[in-house]
Amino acid sequence: MIYDVIIIGAGPAGLTAALYVLRANLRALIIEDPLVASQAAYAFIIENFPAFPGGISGIDLIKKLKEQVGYFGVEILPADVSGIKNSGQNSKQLWQVTANNRMYDTISVIVASGAVPKRLDIAGEREFIGRGVSYCAVCDGALFKDKNVVIAGGGDSAVEEALFLSRFAKKVSIVHRRDKLRAAKILQKRVFANDRIEIVWNSTIEQIMGGKTISGLRLRDVSTGALRDMDCQGLFVSIGKVPNTGFVKNALDIDKNGYIITGRGLNTSAHGVFACGDCRDTLFKQIVTACGDGAAAARSCVHYVDTMKGY
Ligand code: NAP
Repeated sequence: MIYDVIIIGAGPAGLTAALYVLRANLRALIIEDPLVASQAAYAFIIENFPAFPGGISGIDLIKKLKEQVGYFGVEILPADVSGIKNSGQNSKQLWQVTANNRMYDTISVIVASGAVPKRLDIAGEREFIGRGVSYCAVCDGALFKDKNVVIAGGGDSAVEEALFLSRFAKKVSIVHRRDKLRAAKILQKRVFANDRIEIVWNSTIEQIMGGKTISGLRLRDVSTGALRDMDCQGLFVSIGKVPNTGFVKNALDIDKNGYIITGRGLNTSAHGVFACGDCRDTLFKQIVTACGDGAAAARSCVHYVDTMKGY
């Protein structure tokens, strides 16, 4: 069996790409890593996706997208893609996608593999994962009822996580390395108005302390260099994302931060491979722009497949 296209990733970008290729009647397979859900799925409430007054939860949005894609009768294979390679046979070159040690042949590939949370890389972080360190407030927040929790970061995600955690926790402290938040103004306003949330400005987290679970953090004031310890039972790391592109690094050009380099048509450096969403070198990382990316990559892909088939 040779697919027309294999889409790697089933977040907003991959699923929108799927809608477009399926409506163009391409034979498609979507492969989704069962262990890495789309970042969008972790959003408690998404208020800036059009057509949902009052917002929609990330899980519901992904569910609706999957339902919409499912209407066209496509298979979503739960598997971990470890590589893509060009068969290099002739002008009608095929791509081979390896997932869970099985090879799948396809004329084209759309990479929509998204991004995964960035780590702080400080002492104790790895050791305390699942024992106080978390990268997802929506997943783990309820475990910290009436506890003191800290969020590292100052962007939209950190602030949204803080607002979410303030429903459960006794106190939420946002530890940010500067004196201004990067988050959208409307989110900042909500945080400043929330008396369960404090902001620790100009500070970095140097070390995580504890026994079985976290008991505190060592902070550094970046303006004075002074160290101080802070009592807390949970640390939510929300300092941005890194692209999930390790499996294509030998096949495609990627930039120094790991993002796939794309051209105007979301084509990559390899013929027949397209990229969309948070895994590519895009300036804007919004769910709605990821959907737009998916549509664009799919349009280019359909054109490529039609040309390869001689239509
Ligand atoms: P982000 O916008 O890149 O913000 C990361 C934050 O973490 C920044 O405040 C940054 O500090 C801080 N940071 C980065 N590395 C750090 C380190 N090593 N130690 C301490 N602090 C560090 O990441 P994000 O909040 O995850 O958002 C990612 C993208 O998704 C953004 O484009 C965002 O707009 C989008 N997003 C949108 C929504 C929404 O529209 N509802 C929700 C979530 C995310 P500096 O400020 O000093 O750089």
